Amino acid sequence: KATHFNGHVVFEDVSFEYEQGKPILKGISFEAKQGEIIALVGPTGSGKTTVINLLTRFYPIDQGMITVDGVPIEQYEMASLRNHIGVVLQDTYLFSGTIRENIRFGKLDATDEEVEKAAKIAYAHKFIRHLPEQYETAITSGGTNLSQGQRQLIAIARAILEDPDILILDEATSNVDTRTEVHIQKGLQNLMHGRTSFVIAHRLKTIEQADQILVLGQGEILEQGNHDSL
Ligand code: ATP
Repeated sequence: KATHFNGHVVFEDVSFEYEQGKPILKGISFEAKQGEIIALVGPTGSGKTTVINLLTRFYPIDQGMITVDGVPIEQYEMASLRNHIGVVLQDTYLFSGTIRENIRFGKLDATDEEVEKAAKIAYAHKFIRHLPEQYETAITSGGTNLSQGQRQLIAIARAILEDPDILILDEATSNVDTRTEVHIQKGLQNLMHGRTSFVIAHRLKTIEQADQILVLGQGEILEQGNHDSL
């Protein structure tokens, strides 16, 4: 990566519609300072994913402005913008290959040591070490031979290796066993540290620790604050 972003993100009166006449976001404004955790909450269809889709430039905004480090996102090269934004989805896709290869996907020239270091920071190392073939364990297509929690730990390790400046997390709602859940929590904690993080939040813990909570409803920010103020 040539340069780093600070991760200062501003939405200024952003409006957007996927289809003409059906506004989805209506004049959204907020500021995420470097390193902050922003929790996006709201009912299904309220526009949480759309906020993320605009930040990653999956769609062009109709009105208003989004800046990263003071520069409108349209002025960055798409690849450069996306290189600095890491995404960990509820169920990150794992390809057919070994666990090592799947983690290394975050940084293709990473050494074995770097891969394992990332896995340790992600709290994925322990479960991997307990597999008979450890880092050489083959992942079946989609990762169905691992639990969802284990797949998440691998996704976290991959993202740590990728080392993005801005992070997008779509938290899983599904049940994972308590032990894995604790590891995921700790891994996410390490992943978010020092990065501006946008979390589509389902866990109360995440919401409690967020610097800002944006409560979306029908395309607007209904409430904004932290857990103590709301
Ligand atoms: P969820 O919690 O279910 O993921 P959300 O808050 O993330 O919901 P969005 O996915 O941003 O909500 O969707 C907001 C609205 O935009 C919904 O009414 C949805 O139907 C609509 N929408 C989302 N994607 C598209 C699309 N590609 N084309 C048309 N409409 C879309």
